[in-house]
Amino acid sequence: MRKLYYEDIHRTDFKAAVTSCEPAETGDLYRVVLDATAFFPEEGGQSADIGTLDGQDVLDVQIENELIYHTVKEAIAVGKTVEGHVDRAQRFDFMQQHSGEHVVSGLVHARFGYNNVGFHLSTNEVTLDFDGELTLDQFREIELRANEIIYQNLPVEISYPSKEDLESLSYRSKIEIEGQVRIVTIPEVDVCACCAPHVNTTGEIGMIKITNCQSHRGGVRLNILCGARALADYNKKQDSVSAISVALSAKQDLIADAVLKLKEDMLRQQERINNLQANYLELCISTLPAPSESEHALLFVDKMDTIAIRNTVNTLVERYNGYSAVFSGSETDGYQFIVGSKTKDCKELAQIFRTELGAKCGGNTPMIQGSVTAAAERIREFF
Ligand SMILES: [Zn+2]
Repeated sequence: MRKLYYEDIHRTDFKAAVTSCEPAETGDLYRVVLDATAFFPEEGGQSADIGTLDGQDVLDVQIENELIYHTVKEAIAVGKTVEGHVDRAQRFDFMQQHSGEHVVSGLVHARFGYNNVGFHLSTNEVTLDFDGELTLDQFREIELRANEIIYQNLPVEISYPSKEDLESLSYRSKIEIEGQVRIVTIPEVDVCACCAPHVNTTGEIGMIKITNCQSHRGGVRLNILCGARALADYNKKQDSVSAISVALSAKQDLIADAVLKLKEDMLRQQERINNLQANYLELCISTLPAPSESEHALLFVDKMDTIAIRNTVNTLVERYNGYSAVFSGSETDGYQFIVGSKTKDCKELAQIFRTELGAKCGGNTPMIQGSVTAAAERIREFF
């Protein structure tokens, strides 16, 4: 079968004859083989082309033993001449990403001697794995150089060297390949064995942005974005920066400082709130009847942090023999509560709260906590 994408990478519309059509192993689908195709299959870490065949969506494209299988929903008669249309936008996007990957891998290899040991290209992600570490400064240097290569608009050359020529050629991805090896060369930048579609010149890549560099299996994994993907990412980030800038009334290049300051302010505020809550709860405790006059201690307070409530219950448990309970919130919005006791079984109380008041609560014998929506008077009856 002819691989039309190798004859003319820009040809996305084609006609071909169906040479076989068999049911797929899973699902109600069919796998169609043609005498020629412009669909590039899933290969070398790159997702398959999408598009239509005989008016049907092509759901997957796989290569097995040099035959390319197009997965479709309806069977197509063997011998029929069909029209195929490869999605141009996705094809070009993949070409931009893949050629960009070669530029970055070639530069990393030349500059630091690291090999590309993993590559993944799909509609939502491009990752490159290297067998050596890169610092922030180093990958920024690579990124700068990669974009300079785009400005130079160098040719991306495809060749099929003879076995003898290959032996004397220095190139990346040197693996034992049966049959003809396809070499992709960007002069002075990269020479690599590769089966995928590429742009004609580096200028078509548009731009290269490394968006992430993290440690991965003793080396690093880079995320890159090329062409329109990089621009879309810039737009998304610009929208975020702009929104944060407006929300914090800070200049765009100063938002990181503004966020740090905001976090520090919040911590100080929280400290103040903690102190105020502690003081308020101490005042509330002072209004309770003395332990000599009352077995239980029961407090209803405005909404407080759980830690402040628990501290209060702990204090009360030391003073009162019966139940010590704090209900925080209001009758309309409901209460969060904690009940503790040195002598009584709080789990029994929890059971009563659940059946009588519909409370949601749990815990153990010395302490329970939960939430309930009920009138304060109704709750008091249980103490
Ligand atoms: Zn490649």
